[in-house]
Amino acid sequence: MLRSALLKLSESKKFANWVISNAQMRRMSHRFVAGEELDEALAAARVSNDQGMLASLDYLGENVSSTADAQHARDSYLEIFEKIAAQRIDANVSCKLTALGMDLSADFCEGLVLSIVEHAAGTDNFLRVDMEGSAYTQRTIDLVKRVRSQSPAIGTVIQAYLYRSEGDVQDLLTVGCRIRLCKGAYKESAEVAFEKKADVDANYVRLVKTLLPSGFYHGIATHDPKMIAATIRCAAEQKISKEDFEFQMLYGVRTDLQRRLVRDGYRVRVYIPYGKDWFPYFMRRLAERPANVEFFLRNFFRR
Ligand SMILES: Cc1cc2nc3c(=O)[nH]c(=O)nc-3n(C[C@H](O)[C@H](O)[C@H](O)COP(=O)(O)OP(=O)(O)OC[C@H]3O[C@@H](n4cnc5c(N)ncnc54)[C@H](O)[C@@H]3O)c2cc1C
Repeated sequence: MLRSALLKLSESKKFANWVISNAQMRRMSHRFVAGEELDEALAAARVSNDQGMLASLDYLGENVSSTADAQHARDSYLEIFEKIAAQRIDANVSCKLTALGMDLSADFCEGLVLSIVEHAAGTDNFLRVDMEGSAYTQRTIDLVKRVRSQSPAIGTVIQAYLYRSEGDVQDLLTVGCRIRLCKGAYKESAEVAFEKKADVDANYVRLVKTLLPSGFYHGIATHDPKMIAATIRCAAEQKISKEDFEFQMLYGVRTDLQRRLVRDGYRVRVYIPYGKDWFPYFMRRLAERPANVEFFLRNFFRR
């Protein structure tokens, strides 16, 4: 219930405005968000690199309502790739299609994504398209496949909580697309998504077993020790080398586990979000773990 309420609140612009304008909330957002400026995200990525990890930078924003805002987001992504190359940081970039105008026009959005991917390829880098709510799943896959047919420096994300994901994985593998597998962070109905954690987890493991032996380089995004153990088991059984896939985790979440995996010789990528539009991302992180809400309430009311 708490998860549903927080995910519903994450869509409220009014609540967002109140939260974002509150200095104490802004400070607390740093638990999950590297900062509001690109330089802060680059500094966090450098720290990850120094600790033996890769990074993926995400300029926060979603559901823009004007082409000017979408173009601004595109320019920000181009700047990220420039700075990553200039500062020799080992990082790629993650983006959301609704930040790039998907709600306005799929063709317009595709043009912006293609320009970013061509730029990424020019700096020998890679763009990952995050997966948003299920209303966007098919449109995201279609766009990624179309852009990928022109420039392969693009991949996307599959959410294990959706019933359709097994078919989507097969579809994306036929074109050699690199996939990040996650459980899924949005509010979905029982018509499209597994409701029980045990079913989501079982589907996650099923998809890991399809992805790892596929011959393409994928990202296994989770902080769940059981999913990580299942991945390691699957890789050992299938004789898949530690270089042929990576674990991915969120900035500020289970840093102990991130370090342990690095120590054990696994590739680990930290997803580092930054920007002024941090509210929906922050709310999804609270929704994932009730203990996070307690932590924030305690800190908020502390004098
Ligand atoms: C790199 C990365 C990229 C992602 N991209 C997407 C995407 O494109 N689309 C999408 O829908 N979702 C995305 N997600 C979010 C994902 O779908 C899950 O909501 C999130 O990762 C929690 O699931 P879990 O696998 O960690 O397992 P869970 O079963 O939710 O959690 C397992 C354990 O991890 C820890 N944990 C998990 N979340 C938190 C948290 N917020 N704070 C503190 N501890 C936590 C807790 O110890 C928990 O017991 C991404 C996640 C990662 C790691």
